[in-house]
Amino acid sequence: MSRQSLQLDDQVYDYLLSISLHESDLLKKLRNETAELPLARMQIAPEQGQFLSFLIKVLNVKNAIEIGVFTGYSSLCIAMAMADNGKLIACDIDEKYTNLAQSYWSKAGVEKKIDLRLAPAIETLDKLIDENKTGFYDFVFIDAHKPEYIDYYERSLKLLKTGGVIAVDNVLWDGNPVNPEKQDEDTNAIRAFNEHVFQDKRVFISTIPVGDGVTLVTKN
Ligand code: CA
Repeated sequence: MSRQSLQLDDQVYDYLLSISLHESDLLKKLRNETAELPLARMQIAPEQGQFLSFLIKVLNVKNAIEIGVFTGYSSLCIAMAMADNGKLIACDIDEKYTNLAQSYWSKAGVEKKIDLRLAPAIETLDKLIDENKTGFYDFVFIDAHKPEYIDYYERSLKLLKTGGVIAVDNVLWDGNPVNPEKQDEDTNAIRAFNEHVFQDKRVFISTIPVGDGVTLVTKN
C-alpha cells in the first residue's frame, strides 16, 4: 500500500506518526476528503508529506516543480514550507482533481505560490527548458505517469540547479518490481527507471522506504 511505509506493522506505524507527525487540520481534512475518492491510493502518506516539507525547509527551496498534483496534498506540503516568495510549478492534466487541490491551496493562503499548468508534464517541462530555465530549480517532485518517469527525470535533471534535489515517488511500487511475474507496464517502467538512475553517473542518489519508496537525486 502506498499510504504507509513498507514493512512497518500498524502499531509501529502509529507510533512513528505519534512521535513525529505535525499535520495541520487543513492537510488532514484534504487527506480525509481524498481518501473517499476512487484513486485515493495515489495520495502520498502524511509522514511523506512532512518529509517533503522538511526537504523544502533545509534546502531553502525558492523554485520548485511538482509533476503530478492529484488533489494537491504534496503541493500543499511543498508550498506551505516555502518562504513567501517561493514559486511552485504544479503539473497535471486532470481538471477535476486539481480543482479540489486549488480550493485547498486557497484555504491555506498559498495559492499565489503555486502556478498550476494543466497540460502534459513533458510539454510543460520542455517549455521551461525552451524558456532557458535550465539549472534554475532547487527542487523537483516526480509523482505522475510511471511510463514517463525517465522522460520526466531527464528533463528535471536539466532544469535542476547544482545542489538541487529531485525526489521521485513510488520507486518500490508496492514491492512489485521484485516479483518476476509482474510484467505490467507500470511495474516495468518503475524497474527501468530505477535501473536508469542507479547507472546514472551524473548524479548521487539515496533511496528511502518512506511511503511507497522515494529516491532522492542530486547532481554530481
Ligand atoms: Ca505517488
